[in-house]
Amino acid sequence: MGTQYYIYLAVIYLFAFLFGATVGSFLNVCIYRLPKEESLIKRNSHCMSCGTEIKHRDLIPIVSWCLLKGKCRACGAKISPRYTVVEALNALLWVFVAYKTNVLVHPVNFLLTALLFSALIVVFFMDWDTQLISTYVCIFIAVLGVLYFIFNHTDVDLPITSRIIGFFIVSVPLLLIELASKGKAMGRGDVYLMAAGGFFLGMQNILVALAIALVTGSIAGLIIKHFTKRSAFAFGPWLSLGIAVSCLYGNRIADWYMTFTGLNEM
Ligand SMILES: [Zn+2]
Repeated sequence: MGTQYYIYLAVIYLFAFLFGATVGSFLNVCIYRLPKEESLIKRNSHCMSCGTEIKHRDLIPIVSWCLLKGKCRACGAKISPRYTVVEALNALLWVFVAYKTNVLVHPVNFLLTALLFSALIVVFFMDWDTQLISTYVCIFIAVLGVLYFIFNHTDVDLPITSRIIGFFIVSVPLLLIELASKGKAMGRGDVYLMAAGGFFLGMQNILVALAIALVTGSIAGLIIKHFTKRSAFAFGPWLSLGIAVSCLYGNRIADWYMTFTGLNEM
């Protein structure tokens, strides 16, 4: 590969970062407005303290918050670093997904996977804040799964049977837990998320996602309980983390598990 190739790649990564940051600022709108069922496109952003409409020049992702040193231009109230964290996280993940999916060879796979990661960021923060998972976001993930099935041109195609089994294999047990516990142990949003995620990832990788969620969720639960004495907490953030990790590393984790347990010799 010549120098030109790497310059080309660097430009693509730069665009992935800039576009990812811009999408990230829309994700903030989703995280904040979806639980209140407010419109995602109407009305401009306002300062949470003084209500002043925020001007366009102060809405540049990441940059504006740094220039204003995290304060409202009108009243000087502190603006949560969360908005900038979400923008930067989405931007970095888009670059990472561009690298992992080999964007120059598989641009469609890159776009669908990057959008999946963005949807998972919304699930993570919205569920963390409100213990709600938006049904719209789950439908969006399912649509991405359908598009992936239609447009996937890589050599490791997931058969439709794996996607359909993936849709049910985790969501149905979660639904039974939800019904048995009357929604206390599990919410309907968790069920929809794992159904949509299962269609995107297929049977094997949605099981890997669940395993990751159980491990990270249990550890996080112990830590949260230790520091806040709170025993109820959202499971959705860990499910979305599991889906994200499994999307990129699911096959490798499954192979490792099979070797580790000796199951691949049976
Ligand atoms: Zn203000």
